[in-house]
Amino acid sequence: MAEPVNLNIRFEDILTEVESYNPSADLDLIRKAYVYSAKVHQGQTRRSGEPYLIHPIAVAHILAKMHLDAPSIATGFLHDTVEDTLATVEDIKQIFGPQISKLVDAVTKLSKINFNTKEQRQAENFRKMFMAMADDIRVILVKLADRLHNMQTMQHMPEDKQILISQETLDIYAPIAGRLGMQELKLDLENLALKYLKPQLWETLSEKADELQKTTGKSIEEMKLKLNEKLLEYGIKADLQARIKHVYSIFRKMEEQHVEFEQIYDLLALRVIVNTIPQCYETLGFVHSLWKPVPGRFKDYIGMPKMNNYQSLHTTVIGPKGYRVEFQIRTKEMHEIADWGIAAHWNYKEGGEINLKDEMKFRWIRQFMEWQKDLSDPAEYLDTVKLDLFASDVYVFTPKGDIREFPAGSTPVDFAYSVHTEVGNKCVGARVNGKLVPLRYRMKSGDTIEIVTQEGHHPSRDWLKYAQTSRAKAKIRQYLREEQSTRASKLGQDLLEKELDRYGLSPSKTYKGEAFLAFLKSRHIRDEHQLFVLVGYGKLSSHQVVAALLPKEQLEEMAQKETVKESTISRIFKKAFERSRGRVRVGGFDDVMISLAKCCNPIPGDSIVGFITRGRGVTIHSSDCSKVLASDKTRRLDATWNLKGADPTSTKIRVICIDKPGLLADISRIISDLDVNINQASCRSIGDQKMVNNFEIGIRDLKHLQSLIKALSKVKGVISVDRTRD
Ligand code: MN
Repeated sequence: MAEPVNLNIRFEDILTEVESYNPSADLDLIRKAYVYSAKVHQGQTRRSGEPYLIHPIAVAHILAKMHLDAPSIATGFLHDTVEDTLATVEDIKQIFGPQISKLVDAVTKLSKINFNTKEQRQAENFRKMFMAMADDIRVILVKLADRLHNMQTMQHMPEDKQILISQETLDIYAPIAGRLGMQELKLDLENLALKYLKPQLWETLSEKADELQKTTGKSIEEMKLKLNEKLLEYGIKADLQARIKHVYSIFRKMEEQHVEFEQIYDLLALRVIVNTIPQCYETLGFVHSLWKPVPGRFKDYIGMPKMNNYQSLHTTVIGPKGYRVEFQIRTKEMHEIADWGIAAHWNYKEGGEINLKDEMKFRWIRQFMEWQKDLSDPAEYLDTVKLDLFASDVYVFTPKGDIREFPAGSTPVDFAYSVHTEVGNKCVGARVNGKLVPLRYRMKSGDTIEIVTQEGHHPSRDWLKYAQTSRAKAKIRQYLREEQSTRASKLGQDLLEKELDRYGLSPSKTYKGEAFLAFLKSRHIRDEHQLFVLVGYGKLSSHQVVAALLPKEQLEEMAQKETVKESTISRIFKKAFERSRGRVRVGGFDDVMISLAKCCNPIPGDSIVGFITRGRGVTIHSSDCSKVLASDKTRRLDATWNLKGADPTSTKIRVICIDKPGLLADISRIISDLDVNINQASCRSIGDQKMVNNFEIGIRDLKHLQSLIKALSKVKGVISVDRTRD
């Protein structure tokens, strides 16, 4: 059974440890947390039979070794109190204050997240964990310490639990530790997980590693002495540590490279820890002068640190007896970071408070993003679908270091509108990590975005293609709409005043006149400006306005002056308007008088644009119509199809086929089978046994037309089917 443990000795160790790296730490807080934990966990035992208190003490001890602040260590003591004792979050808050209770609560919640659950829920769980981490990084650090101790003492758990917990550790917690730069913790977690997941393999590899250590021990010692001698000769004090690759790393290498233990070259490593960066490079020179370097194995992570801040010089040399030995040369500071990552970076303010606003907060989140991308390989059960879910967000930073979340594919346009509508409207570009990028740039996690604005700049239609967020899209549309109504207003005023002029009416006088005001009132129009917009959009004709202002006789007199031809044309237009009204939304309205342009024959589904004619409402063209592209830009309007219950639209197709009896009947049948009306048809032979058939048909929309073309193309004897626009 378990040996009696003197818990107080362990506790005193923690205080000594904390004092060594943070003399101003709040030791009373730590003591209070210990006493409270001892009280509420009293009488509880672990599976091993030991007092439960062993666990919180061990967790707090690991946190002290990470050099964390007093609140983190107190949280280590308290982390299981809410879950496993009668204590509540409220109790913790009253005794230890809101900061600690928040941490304990978050760790408790994190512990309840089960990563071995249904796949859809996993992504959500990761998100939750990430949120907890983003809120306070200490939460995950306490959780990692908790997991490490649980893994270290897992021999007492039933086998199925061992496997489940080990898998979760390997899939989730070890990668997090890695991403936070906590290399030692990561390796410890991985080794322990492998021990339970593949016990036999682990046993074999451990034995082989021990054996290797024994057989190479003497040679390595020789190398250490030789190098140390050389270094001392040049006045460099160094700490040399020999080590064998971790069992889990060996296992990974064997799996990845499909090799046996004996075929792995870089099992032996020698760490050289010196004081300064120049000494690192000097040491490298000595190593290369003493032993033959293996080509292509030198890596300078000092000049080019890894994402997780790891810095070191790596080189592999051929040592005595042909053993390959990897040298890892670094400064003491780099060494601490390599082992403890983020924890080694901890900044202390007065009173041991963590400065969360500092650069580190920024860095670790950046690293975490990177880890999210890497999840694909350790997590076999997290298939690609979920990874997509994960990758669906990007996290970027404001110049002040605040984090912002956007859907994948978002651009600086989205960012700008998230800051302020005005920033969005005036943005011309962005600086990403200091470099100028265009607005179409797709932001990546970790980017720092600074929006460049310019007074007098406005959103354009293209921006809708760049924007991913509904907020940005809505704001851009709103701007475009307002801009259009300004344009419509100008046009409307122009049209109306020309018409007034024709009847010898002065605009300014008219607008003040009683008849005019009565007309506005009868139509529920606020003022002349609103009227201009309505006329500009063609919802009211300028003539209708004038007709309401003048006596009938005067109008008739004028009408007689007009040519008969003109009135016929306007009648035709009126008819066309009546039919097409409601099928297209123009500038956000669906009751604008429109007509479909004859030059390009747009049908529902085509991308369209409105064109304000002088006095004939709005003509709808297809967006790529050459006529509209050549026209006055200021007279263009946004237009979209309004498809609900719309009548079929007329369009033309040309079918070229072999001149063969019965084929035309086949074609006609297919057209009517697809619920398409034939309004007009012309068929003629063009010799060479070929026929051209032109059909004018009534079609619902572009999709409908496409399925018709597809069906006709399949008919035997049909050579080509095309939509025609002449
Ligand atoms: Mn625990």
